[in-house]
Amino acid sequence: MLIVQKFGGTSVGSIDRMRNVAARCVATAREGHQVAVVVSAMSGETNRLLELTRQLQDDPNDREVDVIVSTGEQVSVGLVALAIRAAGGKARSFLGHQCKIVTDSAFSRARIVSIESQPIKDALAAGEIAVIAGFQGVDDKGSITTLGRGGSDTTGVAIAAALKADVCEIYTDVDGVYTTDPNVVPTARKIERISYEEMLELASLGAKVLQIRSVELGMKYGVPIHVRSSFSNAQGTWVVPEETAMENVVVSGVTVAKDEAKITCKDLPDTSGVAGKLFAPLADGGISVDMIVQNQASHGTTDLTFTVPRGDRKRAVEILCARVPELVGTGGERITFDDEIAKVSVVGVGMRSHAGVAKKMFQLLAGENINIQLISTSEIKISCVIARKYAELAVGALHEGFGLSLPPGERTGL
Ligand code: ADP
Ligand code: ASP
Ligand code: MG
Repeated sequence: MLIVQKFGGTSVGSIDRMRNVAARCVATAREGHQVAVVVSAMSGETNRLLELTRQLQDDPNDREVDVIVSTGEQVSVGLVALAIRAAGGKARSFLGHQCKIVTDSAFSRARIVSIESQPIKDALAAGEIAVIAGFQGVDDKGSITTLGRGGSDTTGVAIAAALKADVCEIYTDVDGVYTTDPNVVPTARKIERISYEEMLELASLGAKVLQIRSVELGMKYGVPIHVRSSFSNAQGTWVVPEETAMENVVVSGVTVAKDEAKITCKDLPDTSGVAGKLFAPLADGGISVDMIVQNQASHGTTDLTFTVPRGDRKRAVEILCARVPELVGTGGERITFDDEIAKVSVVGVGMRSHAGVAKKMFQLLAGENINIQLISTSEIKISCVIARKYAELAVGALHEGFGLSLPPGERTGL
């Protein structure tokens, strides 16, 4: 088999842990498999490097930031390759531009355009373990790019797709994907199998165990992803195409995202074209809007509320303050914002065929006296924006209320 093994920051967090990684890679190779390893920076390193750049400037140049933060992975690949050699294996390290992982030029959040994988294939054919730097790529001008936080997951799955690997194993500090973050809710349960679609929702709604883009690529190229612990041999969670039995589980997981802010524009004219005019400059400014709610007020006006990434909130308000006067004739006092929000969500493919999930979610939040500020739904998820101070309380109540601490077979209906 051809196996891609991706190791996250904690798994390569010290020389001892790198020895542990090396032992696993060498053992897999000795079983007769071809092994490509993707590694992250040592835990804490990417944050440390980012912090250095911010000591110089609040908003440092993206291209130079990528030159700096990508070095964490360079150190890791060299050390892991050495550790594999020390363990008696054959290894060769690869940086993004050597693989070669070509991306667009969106520094700090680049997307992979292509992988010219011949150098890796040559190393594997020579019986070597290819040790590949996660998170980094190169654009068509030769500049170093990075794939966004958690981007080594995406490198892992993209390499697996390019090599047509049999599996992409994601080794991390938990032994699989849980019904909610097990470091926050101790009663969370490991999920044995989960569909790409549900995993995509969980990842995009706050479960950082896999980067969203890695799940998208896994789904697109049919790469089976096995999320498991680098500290044990236990089976983890398989992320695979949807299976019929999965429909029986109405809610598979609960997530929370605390990185958004809410903006409200009050008393907008209730005429066609207003929303378009309001969102156009935000889109032009590269600000992505998430949840949007519009309410009709009584006297021919509307209120529009939406969420944006918290890091973009200040710029979004500035842009709106510049545009709203021309739309409604008066100034920025119509615009309010709230940074202290959280988005809690429940996800499950079973929602397609079961009614009543929304009702139950609202009742559970009401039971804790938590006010719901915004709601959005898709076929397989419901999200509510609430005050951030209630985030943990809400997650706990939803997790217990939907019976997620019980084995799937013992959960009662809605
Ligand atoms: P790595 O450095 O290995 O990439 P991450 O820190 O990016 O690891 O992701 C693993 C973490 O994801 C876990 O430690 C856990 O706290 C968090 N997490 C959040 N939601 C979930 C979930 N539903 N299942 C498992 N882990 C989760
Ligand atoms: N080192 C990068 C980060 O911390 C990429 C990764 O770990 O996946 O975000
Ligand atoms: Mg990660």
